Amino acid sequence: MSRCFYCNTKKEMFITGARPKNEKMRKFKYCCDNCVSKTDAFMDFADRTRATFWTGISFAALLCILGIVLSDFFHTIAMICLMISFFVLGLTIIFFPHATPEAFAILSIKKTLILAKILGTALVLSSPMWILL
Ligand SMILES: [Zn+2]
Repeated sequence: MSRCFYCNTKKEMFITGARPKNEKMRKFKYCCDNCVSKTDAFMDFADRTRATFWTGISFAALLCILGIVLSDFFHTIAMICLMISFFVLGLTIIFFPHATPEAFAILSIKKTLILAKILGTALVLSSPMWILL
């Protein structure tokens, strides 16, 4: 008994091996063709948006560093940098929930996407707190 890589369902009958288009996804098991095609669609999306994802992460990281460096001299500007950093990071994670196949294998793709949306929303909602500090 093992779990579907996409939806995490436990089932006796499993589709394994060669069907997913993406090479890395072939070592995992799937419960139905629908989950295979959803995995393929997600991996296509992930490949197309990888550059955007890293741009968002880098931008957020730079703003975060800038905010920390400025915090001793320009408190308000530093807090605005940190707020935008959290906001951008949250949006990036919500819209481009990239992870490695190994990470997806632990939670399944479906649950990882839900978790990413929750974490991203928490970051976006918590971003205004920097202004209050
Ligand atoms: Zn499934």
